[in-house]
Amino acid sequence: MQTHYDYIILGGGLSGLTLAYRMAQDPFFDTKSILIIDQSAKKENDRTWCFWESQPDIFEEIVSHRWSTIGFKSPVFSDDIAIQPYQYKKIEGDDFYAFAKAYLVTKTHISFLQEAVLSVENQSDQVVIVTDQKKLSGGKVFNSILNSEILESQSQHQYLKQHFIGWFIKTETPIFDPDVATFMDFTVPQNGNCRFMYVLPTSTTQALFEYTLFSKDLLEDTEYENAIEDYLKEKDILQYSIERKEQGNIPMSSYRFDKHASKNMLHIGSAGGWTKASTGFTFKHTLKKTASLIDFLKKEQDLRLFSKRTRFWWYDLLLVDVLYRKNHLGAPIFGEMFKNNPTDRIFKFLDDETTFKQELQIIWSLPKKEFIKAVFSRLFG
Ligand SMILES: Cc1cc2nc3c(=O)[nH]c(=O)nc-3n(C[C@H](O)[C@H](O)[C@H](O)COP(=O)(O)OP(=O)(O)OC[C@H]3O[C@@H](n4cnc5c(N)ncnc54)[C@H](O)[C@@H]3O)c2cc1C
Repeated sequence: MQTHYDYIILGGGLSGLTLAYRMAQDPFFDTKSILIIDQSAKKENDRTWCFWESQPDIFEEIVSHRWSTIGFKSPVFSDDIAIQPYQYKKIEGDDFYAFAKAYLVTKTHISFLQEAVLSVENQSDQVVIVTDQKKLSGGKVFNSILNSEILESQSQHQYLKQHFIGWFIKTETPIFDPDVATFMDFTVPQNGNCRFMYVLPTSTTQALFEYTLFSKDLLEDTEYENAIEDYLKEKDILQYSIERKEQGNIPMSSYRFDKHASKNMLHIGSAGGWTKASTGFTFKHTLKKTASLIDFLKKEQDLRLFSKRTRFWWYDLLLVDVLYRKNHLGAPIFGEMFKNNPTDRIFKFLDDETTFKQELQIIWSLPKKEFIKAVFSRLFG
């Protein structure tokens, strides 16, 4: 086996495979050798991705369900909202891995290696990777292996987690409306945190119920599961079977992951700060970031120049600061946001695509006191 590659991608999950997929589609990379290393075979359905989109992108073929209405519920505002021109779309993890890999294996310049990465070392003109079985080097390395200890061990940027357990349930009788996804239901007891239920019905008898928190500390598994049970009871859903479960813990932080980039190595995916700090959404950002990374690689050599800090980074920083200090304010903040703004403005804002005027409209609609405190604390604290 060859030991040097033009590009090595560490981690063949969402960001690694999306980047490889975009490279495979672009003739610029046809003459480059590309290796994807992952310790897992990526055959399991380990996650369900949802995201909103107004135009189809590269993974349209594997969208397994789409909703054109989302439900939002909170003490200050509740409604079912039509989201045209957007659709809220779902892709299953196993469909994604199979689809991307089926395409990538048709390319002779792209290879896979199923080994665990043990270390990554920057040298002046290449990056050396040690796996549990061999030593390899890459001209450019894209690293999607998240090291949560980096986040835990710093205090400059607050670190919240989006953590959840989800049950895929099936009922005997038709109960659900498969056209309406409940985006956030804050009517569940908040217990001093930012807690909500996320419900994705895929047929009249099947739905995912995910009990989700944006907070500092994880709960015992039983607490998430009891909350789902209570919620189902409250909705009078008593006869059901649990077909599958999923669990997640997604970092929410404005930590500057990009400071770990070197000339020849860039962190990507959640490990590169591509997770939206204020929401945990990563899928859409990964589609966008990989597209701009492809353009970047054709022009620039030094990977430290790729990441740019924008005003959206500041908005995320402030929201995470507020939720970190006053975790119970999640329901009123998101409630006021949805009450006072059309969803297309909110989606654009969360996609970092709004104009400054639209951003002011959103910021103005939120409970101001805590945000003003957060600004002062960042400026003078
Ligand atoms: C259950 C769940 C549901 C989610 N739902 C959504 C959603 O609906 N919408 C959304 O936008 N985001 C969602 N996310 C967040 C985010 O999109 C995912 O976490 C996404 O997979 C992050 O992509 P990534 O490439 O950064 O990491 P991953 O997809 O996790 O890829 C990292 C890869 O690195 C590999 N790896 C790790 N350590 C090593 C090692 N030492 N050696 C070799 N390989 C290694 C892993 O096997 C993995 O394949 C969800 C996350 C989870 C966990």
